[in-house]
Amino acid sequence: MRAQPKASHFINGTYVESPNGKAFQSIYPATTEVIAELHSADEATVDAAIAAAKEAQKVWAATDPITRGRVLLKAAELLRERNQELSELETLDTGKPIQETLVADAASGAECLEYFGGLTSTLTGEYIDLGGSFALTKREPLGVCAGIGAWNYPIQIACWKAAPALACGNALVFKPSEVTPLSALKLAEIMIEAGLPAGVFNVVQGFGDVGARLVSHDDVAKVSLTGSVPTGAKVAALAGEHLKKTTMELGGKSPLIIFDDADIENAVSAAINANFYSTGQVCSNGTRVFVHTTIKEAFLARLAERTGNAVLGDPMDEATSIGPLVSKAQFDKVLGYMKIGADEGARLICGGDRASVASLPEGYFVQPTVFADVKDDMRIATEEIFGPVMSVLDFDDEADVIARANDTAFGLAAGVFTKDIQRAHRVIDQLQAGTCWINTYNLTPVAMPFGGYKKSGMGRENGHAAIEYYSQIKSVYVEMGDVEAAF
Ligand code: NDP
Repeated sequence: MRAQPKASHFINGTYVESPNGKAFQSIYPATTEVIAELHSADEATVDAAIAAAKEAQKVWAATDPITRGRVLLKAAELLRERNQELSELETLDTGKPIQETLVADAASGAECLEYFGGLTSTLTGEYIDLGGSFALTKREPLGVCAGIGAWNYPIQIACWKAAPALACGNALVFKPSEVTPLSALKLAEIMIEAGLPAGVFNVVQGFGDVGARLVSHDDVAKVSLTGSVPTGAKVAALAGEHLKKTTMELGGKSPLIIFDDADIENAVSAAINANFYSTGQVCSNGTRVFVHTTIKEAFLARLAERTGNAVLGDPMDEATSIGPLVSKAQFDKVLGYMKIGADEGARLICGGDRASVASLPEGYFVQPTVFADVKDDMRIATEEIFGPVMSVLDFDDEADVIARANDTAFGLAAGVFTKDIQRAHRVIDQLQAGTCWINTYNLTPVAMPFGGYKKSGMGRENGHAAIEYYSQIKSVYVEMGDVEAAF
């Protein structure tokens, strides 16, 4: 097995196995070859990870912030040095093409570590003048945090949680998706090499039950989940029962609105990026593309032409732009939605079926698919598909399209294409979405907070905003005079 780790878990600075835990495999979705065999953590293993984190957190929180920052910066440097190796691993685990993983996965994780590494010594409190006496605030870590990840951006998600958590002086126990368990272990190795004390960043593998044990454990102060809305509801309910702090990065069905004055070529590029990057497996994807009726046919013609240039093939080949879906389950789900779209009467512009790649006959490849004339209530327009299936809807009126764009329980992201700057801002101001773009789509620089409105999430990752979710403020009143009492 070409990606077999030394053991399934990484706890207190070392690889640990849990031979009695449920066995599972990681497969390369382009071939279905088994690349690693692991075991889910049993209860004792989860508890050991939390215990290690609890001890290590005290040391880490007492480490001066500049030193903490230096460790995160060193980890970023090591990630960059090993980008090729880490990208190949991520491609094997997820099936995403190497042309993407080389720039979007470990590389974005490194940026996140750099950003938060640079912030460690700026996490100050404030002085509050009380007229003689005064108060001060201190920003303190929460303690042990748990991170639970989805499978679409495994190392990026691990970094998006680890970097702010560690910058604030917390320890983290991270559970990757069991579909993509491998790169988080490499990150754990790199953290140790960068000088992170053993136990500050730990990885435990497993299914939902492992996630649930992390959430309910008394020594875990906070939970950050990246996953679907149904899982988010379960995790938030369990966290609520234990009054844990939470960050929820959940799913979406985001609108991308293209007005009649938009640059069509750029709008087509954005729609492609918003639907087909990572084979459509991106939470913030703009899967409801509202196009003004006057430019709709021109937009569709150019979109079909350019989608025809997509290169489906061996993910390890840098020329490949679309890889397989991550798993058989996702493959079946996405093919199911392609059928639903056709059955619902949407007009198929391109794709609509599985794709055959001659050299990889077992791979979970599907064609990048565009449906036009999609109606608001069709399932392909209301449910998160998480695959390369774009729904194009028509509109004529600005107020109407805003109302339709908002008519969903999700609220993760939204985009607007227009050359009219006032209209762009007017529309964005009314869209119920946590992350918005004007004249582009799906760019998520680490300095920009990321997160959802409505059922798409709670809290924010990235940017200064993330600090609020990994630290707590202690207020200290300092009496400078005498203390008066009634008697
Ligand atoms: P899931 O919701 O199925 O799983 C997310 C994680 O939660 C996995 O590690 C999963 O483990 C774990 N989990 C499942 N059940 C429980 C439970 N009861 N308690 C604790 N943990 C649990 O999501 P997917 O992995 O399928 O990822 C796709 C989803 O993630 C999409 O909806 C997508 O939109 C969303 N997502 C959101 C992002 C954001 O930032 N907003 C970014 C990326 C993806 P296991 O895998 O073993 O089931």
